[in-house]
Amino acid sequence: MDLVFRARRMITTAGEVEGTVGVREGRIVAVEPLNSALDADRVIELGANQVLLPGLVDTHVHVNDPGRTEWEGFKTATRAAAAGGITTLLDMPLNSLPPTIDVDALDVKRKTAEGRLHVDVGFWGGAVPGNLKQLRPMHEAGVFGFKSFLLHSGVDEFGHLSFAEFEAALRELNRFNGLMIVHAEDEQSITSSRGRRYADFLASRPRAAENGAISRVIALARKTGARAHILHLSSSDALPMIAEARAEGVELTVETCPHYLTFVAEEIPDGATQFKCCPPIREAANREALWQGLADGLIDFIVSDHSPSTIALKRFDTGDFGDAWGGIAGLQIGLPAVWTQARRRGHKMFDVAEWMAHRPAKLAGMRHKGQIAPGFDADFCVFAPDEAFVVQAEQLHHRNPVTAYHGLPLAGRVVSTWLRGIKVTGEELHGDLLGREDA
Ligand SMILES: [Zn+2]
Repeated sequence: MDLVFRARRMITTAGEVEGTVGVREGRIVAVEPLNSALDADRVIELGANQVLLPGLVDTHVHVNDPGRTEWEGFKTATRAAAAGGITTLLDMPLNSLPPTIDVDALDVKRKTAEGRLHVDVGFWGGAVPGNLKQLRPMHEAGVFGFKSFLLHSGVDEFGHLSFAEFEAALRELNRFNGLMIVHAEDEQSITSSRGRRYADFLASRPRAAENGAISRVIALARKTGARAHILHLSSSDALPMIAEARAEGVELTVETCPHYLTFVAEEIPDGATQFKCCPPIREAANREALWQGLADGLIDFIVSDHSPSTIALKRFDTGDFGDAWGGIAGLQIGLPAVWTQARRRGHKMFDVAEWMAHRPAKLAGMRHKGQIAPGFDADFCVFAPDEAFVVQAEQLHHRNPVTAYHGLPLAGRVVSTWLRGIKVTGEELHGDLLGREDA
């Protein structure tokens, strides 16, 4: 073996166990009992105060590179990911220039990212008006699926689909079992809002906007038989129709984000635009219902939707929610944020690993990520669940020191992160480009 972990606590898909993990050439080759004779030059002993988790898989990150590198970039985003226990991230197709809406743009992304990665990175493509014929070539080139919007995306160069165009895209994807991931809010229920009051911003993007769009997505997924995934669910009102659709056999999966599971609208100060995101953070009762959705298995997993911008774009000068960029920067904080809330509600580290590693990897079709099991990449997060800290924005590695989590006390600390058997919580760049494995 090149590396062996002896862990009093580690998370496998069977649950929390004690055991020994053997690594050779970047892959896990053995998972044995704690007293196993497995040996290596490098043996890491973990006591009962640390848990060996599979490296987290964050399938929802906006790296914005190339094109908006003053917002973020591959080096800074992947450094933050590594510091947060994430070993694989998938980059969203919008906010970079060009957006990833054809194979040429995908090539530009890959060239830009190459050699600048702390963790492994793959890409989503975009489904936008007029690029239907680009979907299959991008699929064959290895994107993990296709993102679409049903209302203005926030940037003009990434157009949104009408419901008719969305249906056509689903039909096209269904020809090659492609995956559609969708920002489900509709325009009809959204009003424009200005000013510093969070309550006004929230009222301008009501649950109805999500509920209406999700109901249309379900109807079209049912009609076409295609696979659809709801991004960043905030409205818990949609859970019953999601349950119904799944019971019926519609190919539907759902994610939510740490910020919807952590913050509540009632406590967001007016003018605090670091909390602005779309769909918005809702009331405390909604947060509890989302936690119940996770417990019930209706929400499949949790990903960051790290969507950073410059400090200027957050408009702290006016605090106007209408003008501020919508997006929460919190890539590095997801694990302790989720753990802090999860353990209060009686969940275990096993649940967190399911939500943040195993299930997102599975949805994206990654056959070597997200589990501690023989044959998988030796990607690990060593986590100390009982430690505590207070988030300081300026200590985080993403580019601009803004985060909704600033000042928040959290439970749990990422001790180290390992990518294919190499410790990556440092300066070195060991990340690789990742394509869909059946591409
Ligand atoms: Zn997003």
